Amino acid sequence: MIHLKSERDIEKMKESADIVGRTLGEVAKLIRPGVSLKTLDKVAETFIRDNGAVPSFKGYEGFPASLCLSVNDVVVHGIPKNQELRDGDIVSVDCGACKNGFHGDYCYTFEVGHVTEEIHNLCVRTKESLYKGIAEAVEGKRVGDIGHAIQTYVESFGYSVVREMVGHGCGRHMHEKPDVPNYGSIGKGARLTKGMVICIEPMINMGVRNIRVDKDGWTTRTADGLPSAHYEHMVAIRENGSELLSTYRYVEEVLNKKTA
Ligand code: MG
Ligand code: MG
Repeated sequence: MIHLKSERDIEKMKESADIVGRTLGEVAKLIRPGVSLKTLDKVAETFIRDNGAVPSFKGYEGFPASLCLSVNDVVVHGIPKNQELRDGDIVSVDCGACKNGFHGDYCYTFEVGHVTEEIHNLCVRTKESLYKGIAEAVEGKRVGDIGHAIQTYVESFGYSVVREMVGHGCGRHMHEKPDVPNYGSIGKGARLTKGMVICIEPMINMGVRNIRVDKDGWTTRTADGLPSAHYEHMVAIRENGSELLSTYRYVEEVLNKKTA
């Protein structure tokens, strides 16, 4: 069953989404070689709670932390450990916050220090593919239109789309129907209707699409050890087009300062 959201619900979701966006901004300030994943997680959890929200991920099916921090060949669901980031790494920071009964859930992949051009391109094109998907998130279209747009874009560079994990509806539960795969066919899948809020989140591998999960039951890696990138936005389907509830504004403010 798909839970459609009222205008009031969507306003509440914007507040949760804003907290996630600002949390990602706080994390962005700290990302550099030598910082530990545990530190990033602690800063995020404190920031979320200080803003009257609850970290959506902590305790979700037993997940032990507030952020999923996925470094290099880790696709998603990396557990923050004492591991320190190194120059040339990429790290996907996936964050969830719940306030007023509604969840925010989205993600940004950061470059740590100087990454190779090959890896930089993977990040840039994965982010671009997210916006290709968002452009298809229009009332009357289907989730297959979103997946198709993402898939054709990234495969044109020789990358591959993870199949086992997909985007999703979001609301009072972090993961709701419909599934929003990052692959698919035009005109196939659930129909997009006004009031749906969906998370679109391409997980794109430089090499093969296959994945494997570590013994911890969470950490999900590429089968070939090559890097993977991940970006996620929350999109509300409106009568005339769609509206982003999530924002990279706070992240971009920090990144622009770093490069200035
Ligand atoms: Mg998600
Ligand atoms: Mg997420």
